[in-house]
Amino acid sequence: MRTFVVLVVLVCARALPATAQDSFEQRLLAVPDTASARLMTYDLTRVPHVAGTPAQAATRDYVIDKVRAWGLEAWTKEYTVYIPHPDSIAAWVILPPPPPGGRRAALVLREPVLPQDPTSAGRQVPPFNGYSGDGDVTADVVYVNYGLIEDYQTLDSLGITVRGKIAIARYGRSFRGIKAREAEKHGAVGLVIYSDPQDDGYARGDVYPRGPMRSWGGIQRGSIMNVNGDPTTPGYPSLPGARRVPEESLPIPRIPVIPMSYGNARRFLERLAGSSVPQPWQGALPFRYHTGPGPVRARLHVRTERGVRAMHPIWDTFATLRGARYPDEWVVIGAHRDAWGPGAADNISGTVTVLEAARAFAELARAGLRPARTVIFATWDAEEWGLIGSTEWVEEMADSLSAHAVAYLNADDVTQGPRFAGSGSPSLKPLIREVTGLVPDPSGRGSVHAVWLERVHGDTAALTLANLGGGSDFAGFYHHLGIPAAEVGFEGPGGVYHSMYDSYHWMTTFGDPGYRSHQATARLVALIAARLANADVLPLDYEAFGTELTRLVA
Ligand SMILES: [Zn+2]
Repeated sequence: MRTFVVLVVLVCARALPATAQDSFEQRLLAVPDTASARLMTYDLTRVPHVAGTPAQAATRDYVIDKVRAWGLEAWTKEYTVYIPHPDSIAAWVILPPPPPGGRRAALVLREPVLPQDPTSAGRQVPPFNGYSGDGDVTADVVYVNYGLIEDYQTLDSLGITVRGKIAIARYGRSFRGIKAREAEKHGAVGLVIYSDPQDDGYARGDVYPRGPMRSWGGIQRGSIMNVNGDPTTPGYPSLPGARRVPEESLPIPRIPVIPMSYGNARRFLERLAGSSVPQPWQGALPFRYHTGPGPVRARLHVRTERGVRAMHPIWDTFATLRGARYPDEWVVIGAHRDAWGPGAADNISGTVTVLEAARAFAELARAGLRPARTVIFATWDAEEWGLIGSTEWVEEMADSLSAHAVAYLNADDVTQGPRFAGSGSPSLKPLIREVTGLVPDPSGRGSVHAVWLERVHGDTAALTLANLGGGSDFAGFYHHLGIPAAEVGFEGPGGVYHSMYDSYHWMTTFGDPGYRSHQATARLVALIAARLANADVLPLDYEAFGTELTRLVA
């Protein structure tokens, strides 16, 4: 792991004389712009752009056209990967008899059209969980809380099993792939995953379109695969001629899984019999929750593409600015470009961050100011299915990246509100803190650092940056190759994650109305990249790394 190689404290020395570096940075910070961020957000959120669709080819072309127009060298990289799109998704609630066999009602799975939000009236992505098993099952329903390992232990202690039943779990507390894995492992024949109002709905604030939180009809889509990258090519790139793991051996769920709104989920939950739930299992729907099983039953129908029909081309995009002094050392900035809907926050916010940073570097290059190291601006495809675009590229480029990449900056879901947050390798945290002092906060009340410090009542020890988890495109760079990585952005309350309502209207009304968080994120990313690109000695702080590592293993 490269981060263990250097054990001395490195100081941030600069390749350019201090004044030249200051002027480079000042000019860089002057470029990212709210109007530009807003316009690109508008353009890129007109329609849902799921990986493997023509709409996603259009975002590829949009990005390439932009970066070429700014004078950057650009190219795309195509991989053919296994991402089965849904053919048909349906669900029914079956109420106990009489009448004979019970009364059956089909659920409306579409997210309601909102007149304020034009993209909700357009073509919607079917509500589905990527890599769901196929099937058509009918069974009694059992409520399993968050569907965690310990929740099944609790059910065991209550004498309740999901074997042969359809489990209904709420989102939260774990990756949704874990919920699918556990339901299947415990013998459930199907799974519904729903958004409880306790977690991101009315219990947290006004719901969309009155507020930013999840409404009665809002649905969280998302992948339920627990591995990264194209599952048919584990550890190697999905290039033409690649050996493929047979479909029946893929590490994906076998039972049908459907995501639901709480408006639909309540139709099962409010009619469950059985034990009253343990108190921590109670959600925010207006009745006492029960575990079941039954007497309410569900029918779930999922049919997705299989075989060659499930193989789709995906496209990463790249733009580069060759370094003036150390062209063989690369700073990589990346964001995924695919989404489960319009994706204004997740992840056009990241795409626009990369584009604005690219525009800033390109403008300086046109004025004769090139970075010392090479900077690569990437957008990844099919992140939402399992970090696929970035993983395939990292697999293909592993040797080059290990030899040349000095850092990776990720941007995923970065502008959901006004509150600064960052995460990264411990070695990059001092640099992140430093640049927050040089970028104006979106609130206009001083620097990002000043507003951050005010929020923690002046306690500098409370200016914490998180460590990187596993849920985005830094995983291949950081976890597999040991390349230092970081992410910065602005958070806020929201309940539109993976919904059709993660739209331009939501972003412009609630997430970032003035597009100042977009501008600030682009400035932070550009500045971190500039420091990494221009320093004689890389500004990686291994004292901070050592301190944090010691604390983690202590
Ligand atoms: Zn994302």
